[in-house]
Amino acid sequence: MSQNIQTSLPEPIVRYRNVTKAFDNRVVLKQLDLDIMPGEKIALIGPSGSGKTTIARLLMTLEQPTSGTIEVNGEMLWHMEHKGKLVPANEKHLHRMRSSIGMVFQHFNLFPHMTILRNVMEALVHVRKMPKQQAKERALELLHQVGLQHHTKHYPAQLSGGQKQRVAIARALVMQPQILLFDEVTSALDPELVGEVLDVIKGIADKKDTAMLLITHEMDFARDVADRILFTDGGVIVEQGTPEQIFENPQSPRLRAFLTRFL
Ligand code: ADP
Repeated sequence: MSQNIQTSLPEPIVRYRNVTKAFDNRVVLKQLDLDIMPGEKIALIGPSGSGKTTIARLLMTLEQPTSGTIEVNGEMLWHMEHKGKLVPANEKHLHRMRSSIGMVFQHFNLFPHMTILRNVMEALVHVRKMPKQQAKERALELLHQVGLQHHTKHYPAQLSGGQKQRVAIARALVMQPQILLFDEVTSALDPELVGEVLDVIKGIADKKDTAMLLITHEMDFARDVADRILFTDGGVIVEQGTPEQIFENPQSPRLRAFLTRFL
């Protein structure tokens, strides 16, 4: 009976099940279970080294789980069906799975020898095989959305850190991912440039039904943008809830201690 009820609910687009990750026998993520629903905005908070980036890198296929499974749209990330059997994923499968995921990193990772416009167009033309003119129009639209329409001919070195990060966001968005990962995208910025980047992300969060996983130390931002907040410590999700639950009524001593640092 519960099956019937469940089928009427939307399916998660991402499903981590019992995911453990170890580096050289050191376990950094322990038996993680996490569902991300379509359009859901999740903020990951927690001390440095608690496993937040690993959660994102696993989804981006930059790391492979030591055990457990990750599904995207009901399909396994690291396995695929072949002649009715589950076999390890090949590069083609991983590439297809990755196409629904976008990631913005702390250090922009822009191509220094390309103009801003080309940085944003590049994957549309070379990965999606979109005609150049169409890719250009799409890229210009996104650059407009992040407020950089007057910088299209500039090179990354000519921009401020905040502007570079906005290019990186436009570059991720132009691929129309179902889920966007933001890994401490403001931590490398001068304090006066943080606001413009957070404003752009808030604007996207309000307008688009893209799901987001935001790793951040900006607590006010997490509170504003997230539907759900996860607090990680020591490789596990210690506590999760709505921003009100997490910030107004934290339950675990570890979360309470963590939050006092931001008061
Ligand atoms: P957070 O994002 O919360 O700061 P991370 O997920 O980056 O935490 O890291 C969790 C732990 O895993 C840390 O102790 C880190 O040193 C370790 N770690 C992350 N990546 C690697 C790696 N490639 N090799 C070895 N250890 C790693």
